[in-house]
Amino acid sequence: VTGRTVVVGAGAAGLGTAEGLRAEGFDGEIVLVGEEPHAPYDRPPLSKDVLAGRKTPDWLTLRPPADIAKAGIDLRLGVRATGVDAEDRHVELADGSTLGYERLVVATGVGARRLPFGHEVAGVHVLRDLADTLALRADLRAGGPVVVVGAGFLGAEAAAVCRDLGHPVDLVDVEPLPMRPVLGDAVAGMLADLHRDHGVRFHPGRRAAGFDESAGRVSAVRLDDGAVLEAAVVIVAIGSVPATGWLGGAVDLDEGGGVRCDDRGRAAPGIWAVGDVAGWWDPEQARHVRVEHRFTANEHAAVVARDVCGTPQRTAGGAPFFWSDQYDLTLRSFGLPSHRHRVEIVEGDLDDRRFVAAYGDEKDRVVAVVGAGMTKALRGWRQAVVDRAPMPVTT
Ligand SMILES: Cc1cc2nc3c(=O)[nH]c(=O)nc-3n(C[C@H](O)[C@H](O)[C@H](O)COP(=O)(O)OP(=O)(O)OC[C@H]3O[C@@H](n4cnc5c(N)ncnc54)[C@H](O)[C@@H]3O)c2cc1C
Repeated sequence: VTGRTVVVGAGAAGLGTAEGLRAEGFDGEIVLVGEEPHAPYDRPPLSKDVLAGRKTPDWLTLRPPADIAKAGIDLRLGVRATGVDAEDRHVELADGSTLGYERLVVATGVGARRLPFGHEVAGVHVLRDLADTLALRADLRAGGPVVVVGAGFLGAEAAAVCRDLGHPVDLVDVEPLPMRPVLGDAVAGMLADLHRDHGVRFHPGRRAAGFDESAGRVSAVRLDDGAVLEAAVVIVAIGSVPATGWLGGAVDLDEGGGVRCDDRGRAAPGIWAVGDVAGWWDPEQARHVRVEHRFTANEHAAVVARDVCGTPQRTAGGAPFFWSDQYDLTLRSFGLPSHRHRVEIVEGDLDDRRFVAAYGDEKDRVVAVVGAGMTKALRGWRQAVVDRAPMPVTT
């Protein structure tokens, strides 16, 4: 296969697709366009080792630019794609140039969702890219109380790091428990206890309603019940928004705002989408599913590289993998767990924080497993997720 392929977004999914194309024998031109000035880097450590100061940013690099060049990939960093003309097949770049393509791969990930107020106030942060993390780290050095708004996995991880660094931490969420929409009551309850044991003050069922300022910096977060939480630093981690604004009408979007794709990442003639930005058709669930997991970026990249090159393949597997580090606990999961599922502890004990939990759908089939401290046992349950095995009966 020849002709130029343009990949927009130089994160894990974009880099993986560009390299995957070469691995599949694609010998046309490949241009990888990235808005950030950095070589492609790994994001998960941003809210873990990098925020904690245990690792430096250069440790995140997925591939040095010299290796990317050696693979015959034309890496263009620090330039944003601003538009696409699907008819004429070209991408418009922020520097005013255009880039013609035969095939376009959209790999622009997601941006941080923001509160409708207060992001201009000094001391208020989001946590999505390296620049965010370094700015947050610099602010944390002055010490003082931290308020984390949003107790999804990002907020929960950031709260854990801030506690480890010695900050007083308040964690606020509209949900009754941290990560509840994903984990359900039982496992999320365990997580709430873990944070409480480490001294985090959790504020369930609450929203941030405003910020107080003093000397040009945030000094407190006001909650919707009138409570005032002192804050030297605020971390807003309330979800993400797919980075599709530059695409105009070139592709359709799914219900969640991601690029609507078939089960091989095809979005429109000559256009594919991969990684966090992409909602791939899931035949099993009969809906488009967008998965913001690091390993899914790799899976998508491999499937699309093969699809472009016409290599026979299976589509992405039925058990996306995810992990999250909080204190000394690592949660791991296969499949897509949800609070709507029936949860059974099938190995170990939640109270010991060593367990495997199985998640059953309305047909009582295992559709996900979540575990901590029992990695081998958890891996043993992966196949049950792939096979949609019947939920075990426990007493
Ligand atoms: C702090 C943090 C912690 C995480 N922890 C975990 C974890 O523990 N486990 C896990 O499984 N997953 C985790 N994830 C999710 C994981 O990092 C993502 O699933 C993965 O990075 C997705 O890769 P991607 O290439 O699709 O998107 P990204 O890595 O977001 O890359 C997209 C790139 O596109 C660029 N871009 C956007 N718009 C444009 C444009 N118009 N023009 C040019 N470039 C553009 C962006 O600047 C970005 O560099 C975490 C994510 C974050 C932010």
